[in-house]
Amino acid sequence: MRLTFHGAAQNVTGSCHLVECGGKRILIDCGLYQGGREVAEENREDFGFDPATIDYLLLTHGHLDHCGRIPLLHRLGFHGKILTTSATRELARLVMLDSARIQEEEARYRNYKASKRRNRGEPVEPLYDTLDALNCLDCFIDIASFGKAHDLCPGIRSTFYEAGHILGSACILLELSENGHQRRVLFSGDLGYDGRAILPDPATPPQADIVVMESTYGDRLHKRLEPSIEELYQAINTTIARNGNVLIPSFALERTQELLYYLREGIEQKRLPLHLPVYLDSPMANTATQIFRRHRECFDEETWEVIAAGRDPFDLPDLEITRDTAESMALKHARGSVIIAGSGMCTGGRIRHHLRHNLWRKEASVVFVGYAAGGTLARQIIEGEEVVRVLQEEVEVNAEIYTIGGFSAHADQQELIAWHARTGKPELTVLVHGEPEAMQILAGHLDETSVQMPSLHQSIEI
Ligand code: ZN
Repeated sequence: MRLTFHGAAQNVTGSCHLVECGGKRILIDCGLYQGGREVAEENREDFGFDPATIDYLLLTHGHLDHCGRIPLLHRLGFHGKILTTSATRELARLVMLDSARIQEEEARYRNYKASKRRNRGEPVEPLYDTLDALNCLDCFIDIASFGKAHDLCPGIRSTFYEAGHILGSACILLELSENGHQRRVLFSGDLGYDGRAILPDPATPPQADIVVMESTYGDRLHKRLEPSIEELYQAINTTIARNGNVLIPSFALERTQELLYYLREGIEQKRLPLHLPVYLDSPMANTATQIFRRHRECFDEETWEVIAAGRDPFDLPDLEITRDTAESMALKHARGSVIIAGSGMCTGGRIRHHLRHNLWRKEASVVFVGYAAGGTLARQIIEGEEVVRVLQEEVEVNAEIYTIGGFSAHADQQELIAWHARTGKPELTVLVHGEPEAMQILAGHLDETSVQMPSLHQSIEI
């Protein structure tokens, strides 16, 4: 038996782990590398294995860095089964189709640029296209439920457990048997933590011999959730009082639904004005919210109580959902409103138009509620640049800037250690999905287990 790490090895994107047992080959996740151009080029490199030889793919959740290379895997010969939760299947479909569209646009743009040069070079092909994303959907099969074992084939059994990270997210246990040799391998996927809105707490993990674990925040503790919600309400109330707009750049999956959930709660608890005008200006976030509504089985008790009381967890008295670009553009006349739009890091999407119309106004606010990578527009604003470039225009930053850190979807160091302690005393812990420094620090806190931090394409015999 062997584990090989073909992605998220000493970094946080491109999750892809290969399990070999009894002549079968199983992938856990097949994600896209995200970040700058150089990182994007890694997506075009060899997987490190032949996609046609893979029998099963088990998908932990629908984030792009976990499912984003499945259309490519399929185009290059994978025709096995993809097992995941029903909610993850629907979110992954949305994410892969959106990614295909971006790949197509990027290729078109680069070819257009090249067409103006004398030396045009080879035309750029998209990494994959919409048809590839549609084709791979035929391979998806929904698992029955969390906690129910499923025999993939003789000697290989899988069980999914609630991970509490995003809707439908799972940790996956593989029970492997080869020539009388047995191993229990637990993949954490991305881990959430207790007490978040909408989602149940992560399940108690099963005992395992080997734990493959994410380590994104292995070196730090988060701010608590409650003070972060209070800060959000306060930012909105102060800005609305001076008739400014509150811009919230947001990720379409989970973060936007959490925001709607907290805004609704704030209005119900009279911590926000009853007729707060809120615009959701992101077609992808709107579709994701509809997928959330279809998957009540993934909700926690509090969200069920909201539904039982006859309310929609994601609806507000004065919520407007913009449908087309014209409606989005018309928001430049809005005052005293909350505008939620993508992308979360302001690298694209409609938020850039709203920034252009509001950043220079001292009565406006921008509230960052998610991670902002170095080099992005979001990071420039957070770091206090006085003038930024938005859509080819220089814009002065006069708006009030808030960075609210308590809405993370990932467990922090303390929560990772606590989760690990509940897996029994695994003989081996493999840290993945983290920067080397975060991993080193986390490794120092894990007792009674040997720890490995594999490099890309490295194998471990188990
Ligand atoms: Zn994730």
